[in-house]
Amino acid sequence: MIKPVPYQNFAGKDPLLDRFVSYALVPTGSDPESAASPSTSRQLALAEKLRKELEAAGAADVSLSAKGVVTATIPPSPGAGNAPVMMLNAHMDTSPEASCDGIAPQIACRWNGDDILLSEDGPVVLSVKRFPELARHIGEDIVCTNGKTLLGADDKAGITAIMDAALRCPGNPEEPHAEIRLVFTPDEEIGRGTEGVDIPSLGANYGFTVDGGDVGGLESETFNAASARIVFRGISVHPGSAKHRMVNAVKLASAFVGALPSSESPEETEGHEGFFHPVAIRGGVESATVDLIIRDHDRVLFEERKRRLAEMAESFPVGTAPAPVVTIRDQYLNMKEFLKGREEILELARKAYRECGIEPVENPVRGGTDGAFFSSQGLPCPNIFTGGLNYHGIYECIPVQSLHKTACVVSALLRLSASCKA
Ligand SMILES: [Zn+2]
Repeated sequence: MIKPVPYQNFAGKDPLLDRFVSYALVPTGSDPESAASPSTSRQLALAEKLRKELEAAGAADVSLSAKGVVTATIPPSPGAGNAPVMMLNAHMDTSPEASCDGIAPQIACRWNGDDILLSEDGPVVLSVKRFPELARHIGEDIVCTNGKTLLGADDKAGITAIMDAALRCPGNPEEPHAEIRLVFTPDEEIGRGTEGVDIPSLGANYGFTVDGGDVGGLESETFNAASARIVFRGISVHPGSAKHRMVNAVKLASAFVGALPSSESPEETEGHEGFFHPVAIRGGVESATVDLIIRDHDRVLFEERKRRLAEMAESFPVGTAPAPVVTIRDQYLNMKEFLKGREEILELARKAYRECGIEPVENPVRGGTDGAFFSSQGLPCPNIFTGGLNYHGIYECIPVQSLHKTACVVSALLRLSASCKA
């Protein structure tokens, strides 16, 4: 068992690490229960910090919108003004699933693979046994939490890489680049990241979100996603005189959930397999509501899933009960569809990875990204890695070496943008 050392002991030695920690220390948890936009005002503290740094560095058109979206432009290098405009995006909020108050990064230097004691209370231990993917990073310097909060590498590592590359590139004639639009969004973790973004006005031709996981990941395929709400309606009668008259909506709702195909659930699927996932059930005799999400990479199967679910629900009224009310809403679509015919964008990313000595690993994401929404709005936008691990909880960590690899890839993307034909 080893004890990591407080970040303070390393402060001032690695500007990229310092930048990352300066963003991680700003608590920016989002709140799914809030109707405000951004959902929490504390996200604005980081937005304000980014705005000031961009202005101080001489970026153009720096703005912080009322909804908490930060945008800025890095003008093109001389001679690269005709190259397509590239957008870079990362999100400022952190997951509401773990605390973001009192983040205190620690570092396990030249980590030898032993268990890392994050906190004596518990104790809380980060171990290869529980997180085998950590084994790839033995010998590196692992930035971890104090076992009480998340770290915020998701997605402050993405912001760090973008800010580092963007703020170094203006005025460097050695490294010409196209016009770059920077977009930092709030509330990605609660699915509202792109709500406050006016995509056409960005004027970008293509882009990248920097919001993936371990080094090498390159994501251009997400789920197609919809949410469904089914309200079952019953007939409430005094239980003493209910025979052949009462219809209990609680029973309709639970029978419906029980009848969902169990092999098509998140617990039983992987890779390209889609699912139905009930996320909430509530109500009483007269009315009961089931909320579900529907996911499938394949568009045809996705449409079929929506149809099947509605048909199944509608077959559930019994006797004299009124038909249930089914509402299905599309959430985002697989970005792969929108990257068809734009292969040069992925090629640009692969080239940038290889310039940094990283072999791209391309797997379908079993989720979505802000990039899926940008893509569906005409701004094709694959997702690149940040290097962070174990997101959304107290075991979140990121090797310092991975921070540097992400920054390397983003710098390479900027360089390659000058000659991009996207
Ligand atoms: Zn993220």
